[in-house]
Amino acid sequence: MNKSDKIFVAGHRGMVGSALLRRLKSEEFKNLLTRDRAQLDLSDENAVANFFAQETPPIVVVAAAKVGGIKANNDYPVEFLLENLRIQNNVIRAAYENCARKLLFLGSSCIYPKFAPQPISESALLSGPLEPTNEAYAIAKIAGIKLCQAYAREHGANFISAMPTNLYGPNDNFDLETSHVLAALLRKAHEAKTRRDPKLVVWGTSKPRREFLHVDDLAAACVLLLEKYDSPEIINVGCGEDISIHELAELICEVVGFDGELAWDTTKPDGTPRKLLDVTKLRVLGWKPMIPLREGIAQTYQWFLANYAEG
Ligand code: GDP
Repeated sequence: MNKSDKIFVAGHRGMVGSALLRRLKSEEFKNLLTRDRAQLDLSDENAVANFFAQETPPIVVVAAAKVGGIKANNDYPVEFLLENLRIQNNVIRAAYENCARKLLFLGSSCIYPKFAPQPISESALLSGPLEPTNEAYAIAKIAGIKLCQAYAREHGANFISAMPTNLYGPNDNFDLETSHVLAALLRKAHEAKTRRDPKLVVWGTSKPRREFLHVDDLAAACVLLLEKYDSPEIINVGCGEDISIHELAELICEVVGFDGELAWDTTKPDGTPRKLLDVTKLRVLGWKPMIPLREGIAQTYQWFLANYAEG
């Protein structure tokens, strides 16, 4: 990949796409192509086909997706399935038809079976039933992986897929109904502190374990994969360590400075019991995460205060 190659980042306003743009700019890639939703609706097949025919980007990153936490995924399976299939089908196909040299598709660790052996290696894909709360999203992402692999097998395309673990960082979604756990708990802890509430409510039993990666670390991995990884086999991106939701809640309360009690709302789902990725494959390529969890949470809290918190 040359510094002057035209790189289209689909979904550049989202947490992942915006982090990738920052990273590409910092590495002096000079020809970055973006379109926001008002300019290009990625779920519109004709609009996407016309855009690619005009711009013919040689490098494409599919960071556009409808994403959400456990509640949104569980409540809106139709939207998660349809919208993601539409976006990825349109972009991947148009990239191939306009001779893209390389495409990176971003999946998710929820593509793996609910009870996959931990840490989860790439070979666990399609080896067992999925976690029901995010099955629709997972099925869409698996379809995206398979489409990239099909273009590679049938047409020799260099279309690769990376599977990031649970992500957090600047531009995360802090809406309590649709966010993932880390952003939700940061906001809840901040508001509980501001209101001097005695308690902060955490969903589920707090026993599930999750692995959290700062999105800037993911962005660095994406650039490395664009430059060095040319296999249709999927590759995991994670930090290699997980913590329980209870431990996460305590850490967030410490960082935010909320010293009230934690309470559990066990009417809310737990989701998959554990999701820790095996990142041996990526580490062999020379990548390692740079942002420790506590530091990443503190930095994200500063971003939240500057960009989101009221008053
Ligand atoms: P998941 O990794 O796909 O299950 O997605 P989430 O990040 O939404 O949830 C991870 C875990 O955190 C689940 O066990 C949730 O029940 C738990 N959790 C605890 N409190 C919250 C909260 O306020 N919001 C969300 N989204 N999850 C929470």
